[in-house]
Amino acid sequence: MQGQLTILGSGSALPTYQNAPASQVVELCDKAFLIDCGEGAQITLRRMGLRTARLYNIFISHLHGDHCFGLIGLISTFGMMHRLQPLHIYAHPDLERLMRPWLDYHCADLSFDVIFHPINPRKHEVIYEDRTLTIETLPLRHKVPTCGFLFTEHHRNTEPRRRYAYCSDTMYSERLIPWIQGVDVLFHEATYIDEYADRCRSTMHSTARQAATIALKAEAKRLIIGHYSARVDDHTLFLREAAEVFPDVALAEERAIFTI
Ligand SMILES: [Zn+2]
Ligand SMILES: [Zn+2]
Repeated sequence: MQGQLTILGSGSALPTYQNAPASQVVELCDKAFLIDCGEGAQITLRRMGLRTARLYNIFISHLHGDHCFGLIGLISTFGMMHRLQPLHIYAHPDLERLMRPWLDYHCADLSFDVIFHPINPRKHEVIYEDRTLTIETLPLRHKVPTCGFLFTEHHRNTEPRRRYAYCSDTMYSERLIPWIQGVDVLFHEATYIDEYADRCRSTMHSTARQAATIALKAEAKRLIIGHYSARVDDHTLFLREAAEVFPDVALAEERAIFTI
């Protein structure tokens, strides 16, 4: 069975008509994982008819609002739907500290447990493992502690194991390369194009060309870029600059579905 990546949001800090903030669903080994939960993620989930009953685990890369402001709404909605399955949230320990008062105030009578798993974004380590797959953190370089996530299927008899790496938000960091060497699909943020190189540096993000350079050096099989700045309306500019370095690149746009 193939894995699937569904983009719920591929914008950055400032939402636009084109792009909601960061969020995506990874389906691997018959399980669904939510990565980041920007504002509005639950609306796209519902619009796409994605079944949330089997969504048990959420991974938050860092605590900038464009990656976590959608959580409280999503949890509140799960409560209204009388969800029973526990929800596990993997994130920097500050997330629980920040969300507890909101959960106590808005979601006091939840029909399910919300279980926080504190992670250390500065450390490369396994944070999730079951019979079928492993998830590891990928420390990134950003304004606040941030990590990506590497999904690795366990070996099966008939097929090679699949690997998916999610890297957002980060400035160009070659430290990533050995961890993601040869991944089947690499999602790497590309917030800016070359024209905004200075702003890219000061905000600790990557350009499309830098994302493509990481994909090239890591010998990724395919690259997907996203987390677009609101300053650039024409997303083909991201694609063009990335493709000059790494041709097998695609744009993450809202509701796009990719095979992993
Ligand atoms: Zn962001
Ligand atoms: Zn950020």
